[in-house]
Parts: sequence; structure tokens; C-alpha cells
Amino acid sequence: MPYLLPEVTGGENTEFHCNVGGLLESGLWTDATIECHGDIFRVHKAVICSQSAYFAKAFDPKTGFKEAHTSTIILHDVYPDTVRAILQYLYHGKWLSPDSEDEQLVQTVDIYAAAEMYQLASVKYKALNQFRTLAPRMFALQTFPSAVQTIYENTSEKDLMRNILVRTSLLKFDELQKNATFNDTLSQVAEFGKELVHGMGRQLLSNQSHVVIKCPKADCRKEKTIPTEHLTSDGAIRCPTCFYYTAGRAWEQVRKGIRPPDGMTEAQWLSGYGPT
Ligand SMILES: [Zn+2]
Repeated sequence: MPYLLPEVTGGENTEFHCNVGGLLESGLWTDATIECHGDIFRVHKAVICSQSAYFAKAFDPKTGFKEAHTSTIILHDVYPDTVRAILQYLYHGKWLSPDSEDEQLVQTVDIYAAAEMYQLASVKYKALNQFRTLAPRMFALQTFPSAVQTIYENTSEKDLMRNILVRTSLLKFDELQKNATFNDTLSQVAEFGKELVHGMGRQLLSNQSHVVIKCPKADCRKEKTIPTEHLTSDGAIRCPTCFYYTAGRAWEQVRKGIRPPDGMTEAQWLSGYGPT
């Protein structure tokens, strides 16, 4: 009878990443090679194939691919820096990010596109989370247009990164319509423009356009989100915080925009899941 390892529960095995991570840098016991535009990466099949269906198939002797025979794979559609960052993640559980947000955005979408291509699920989700944190500020970045281009060239409809991009744009549309970079991007990446228009259309049809208003009472001034037609119907509005009840026109309009579908918080909606 084979000896079964006892089930392990409890803390994360950070030591595993330290030990395995060292193997990438030391080059000990490597059994495969990744070539990318002249850069050579010596790797371990056990580490990369266990985390990527693409590499597992390429190096599987049963498939008869030449990679399985030579233990070398050549990657054309990706930059060496992207391969380096992905390997850092597969061995260490994290990649080194550049300091500037401009470069971080480029790195994040490049890694996401490569993870999509090479079926690296964990890498893809890590890149998605990174994109989520950058998204609210990305419109001000110089690399925003090329990042959008990369996303649309490498993903298909219903992609989560596309969803986050479109939803963040919808939420901030009031300020974005004056942003030259944003408008240039819309002209350059037609598919992005199309998805944005579709998102807006759905919001209009389901009457989800809204306005954020501020309570007129001096010691309250709390913000409240209401459907735009509530404000224009000239009825009175009650503050949910201080219960002050007064005419809609007395309330200060903070911003106009799109709100998430009923029952979803802004954060849930921006995570890219569910209806636009
Ligand atoms: Zn109030």
C-alpha cells in the first residue's frame, strides 16, 4: 500500500516559495528552456507545467510536440521582460513592479495578455487585481491608450479586464469626456468605444443614470445618490442621514454618472462580474 502524505492544514507555505524561488535564480536541476527574442530562461517543468495548461501540453511526451522532445520552447508573441515577471510569479508568488504607474499599467496588461495566451490562471487573476487597483487613476497616465490597445488585441468579449475598463470609464464619464487622451483612445480602439456605448445604452434603458447630490443642511452635507429624474421632477428629497426634507433644487449636485445595477455595490460592480 502506498504511503499517503498526511493532509496539511493551516498557514501558507511561504517557505515553499522561498526554496523553489531560489531555484529560478540558481538554475539548479533545470530541465527545460524558454527562449524569447534572444533571452534564455532555464526553468523546471514541474514548476511551470503545474501552473500552465499550455506548457503542460507542450512538454507532454504523449502529444508528440517537438518541445516535448527538445525540452525547449520558443515564445514569439511576448516580451522577455513579461516572461521574466511571469517566472518570478510562478517561482516566488509575486513579480517585481516598476516604480512609475505608467510602467506598472503596461506591465500589468502585458502580463495579463501573456497569461491569457499561455493559460496561466493564477497569473491572470493576479494581473487582474493589480489592474483593478490602478484603474481609477489610469486615465491620467500616458500609457493609457497603448494599454487599452493591448487589452483589446489580446482578449475577447466578456473578458474581465475589459469589463473593469468599461465600468470604470462609465463611472467617471462626466470628467472623462473632457480628457483628450481618453477621447483619442476611443477613436483609436473602436471596439472599446463600441463596448462603452453599449454599456451606456443598457444603463439608459434600465434607467440607471444617476446624480450624486449633497445634503443642503450645513451640519450634515452628506452625499446621496438618486436617479436623475427624481431631481428634475421638482419633488422634495429626504436626507437619509439627518432626515432633512427639502426641495430637490436646494440640493447641490456633486457629479452625474452611472451607478451599478440595483443590489450591487460600486466595488462589486467594478470587480468586473455581473451585468454592466
Ligand atoms: Zn442631511
